This record gives sequence, C-alpha cells and structure tokens, in this order.
Amino acid sequence: MIIGGLRKFSLIDYPGKTSAVIFTVGCDFRCRYCHNPELVIPEKYAPEIPLSEIYDFLESRRGKLDGVCVTGGEPALHKDLPEMLEKIKAMGFLVKLDSNGGRPEALKNLIDGGLVDYIAMDIKAPLEDYPKITGRPVSAEKLKESIDLIMKSGIEYEFRTTVAKTLTSADDLRKIAETIRGAENYYLQKFIPAEMNDPSLSDASPYSDGELASIAKELRKYVKNCRTRNA
Ligand code: SF4
Repeated sequence: MIIGGLRKFSLIDYPGKTSAVIFTVGCDFRCRYCHNPELVIPEKYAPEIPLSEIYDFLESRRGKLDGVCVTGGEPALHKDLPEMLEKIKAMGFLVKLDSNGGRPEALKNLIDGGLVDYIAMDIKAPLEDYPKITGRPVSAEKLKESIDLIMKSGIEYEFRTTVAKTLTSADDLRKIAETIRGAENYYLQKFIPAEMNDPSLSDASPYSDGELASIAKELRKYVKNCRTRNA
C-alpha cells in the first residue's frame, strides 16, 4: 500500500458524512481528464506518506469524524487494501471506497469481508468505448461485473461520470444509464479544466449547468436519482 496524500477533513467526499480522505498511489487507467498525475504517472508520484502516520492521525480523529474515504489512483490495485480497511474499521470509522471498477474480484473481497460501507464507481464511457477516455484497453466484462456486484451488494453506492462536451455526448450518457438501469444514484460530474494528463483538453468546453441538468432529468427514467455535481 502506497499512500500519496491525506486530506484531514472533508464535508464533500463522503455523502452526508464528515470524513478524512486517503489517496493511494498507482492507477491502471490513464484517463485523459485525470486531475491527479501525482497518483497515476510514476515519474510524478507524490512522496509516500508512511501508513503509521495515517493510522496515528486517524487515532486522533476517533469519534470526531464519521468516516474515511479511500481514493486514488485506484485503491483496489493494492493487495494489502483489505488489511488497511480492517484497521480503519476497527477504529470505528465508516469506509467509502472510490474505484474505477476494473477489478471486480477485489471489490467482491471487500464487500464480502464487510470492509466497505459505500462504494463510488466511475463509469467513464459506454463500456465498449472506454479506451477513448482511459487511453488503455479495459475489459467491458469486468466493468459490468463490478456494476452488477455493487448494485446487488446491499451497501450504499453511487455511479458517476465526468462529462465534457468533447468527450461524452448525451447519447453516451443515455447508453451508460441504460447499462446501470435501476441504480440508486448516478452523478454527472461537470468536467472542470485543470492540470490533467492530456493538455489538449485544457480548453475543452464543459456542459453548462442547464444542459447537464436537462440531461440528468432525462436519465431519471433509467435510474432512481440522477444529479449533477462539479468534478
Ligand atoms: S481519473 Fe481515476 S481512474 Fe482515471 S487515471 Fe485518474 S485516478 Fe485513474
């Protein structure tokens, strides 16, 4: 487990909860809009924060924070993720996991072990179109396996898509919503140009708030709640 960042307090990363956020280093995707090169590109990796420092900090926040959000990078790449989550749960925190969904077997292990209370899975594109966003081949079967697993898990969850006009059409979003038909929560996250893997996107136009809200309204015929948020 390599940790490259710690946000000590957040009101927005775990819905309805106060949380700390742990950022793991390493990702198997190379999303064109990724805002976290220091967690994804080996030459840019953030300095490692020893796990002992993370645990010491969390000990000091027992009873003061509701939960811990574990994000990346892709946390599920790390074989010792279950061990870390066990320790966090033993301190009394709820755990939210952010995942790109590429490793359903790892997610199943965490769900079966009772180690996660909330999962947020990114859905980058219609499953057959992933490489246009991720820059790498991704198994559509594994993604679908993760989606089905999460929807049947009985724990709280959300799916979310970062949307920029140049990357994701309204029709793409309809296809995604069809894939997660019946899901509880689906968020359309407005693309905000910032430091990212693909500099050609720095002036890519975001959807307007009105355009996104209108698409979200339409997608509510597929999913129970579809809302917009800033990425
Ligand atoms: S956006 Fe997420 S899944 Fe994509 S490269 Fe960045 S950390 Fe990995």
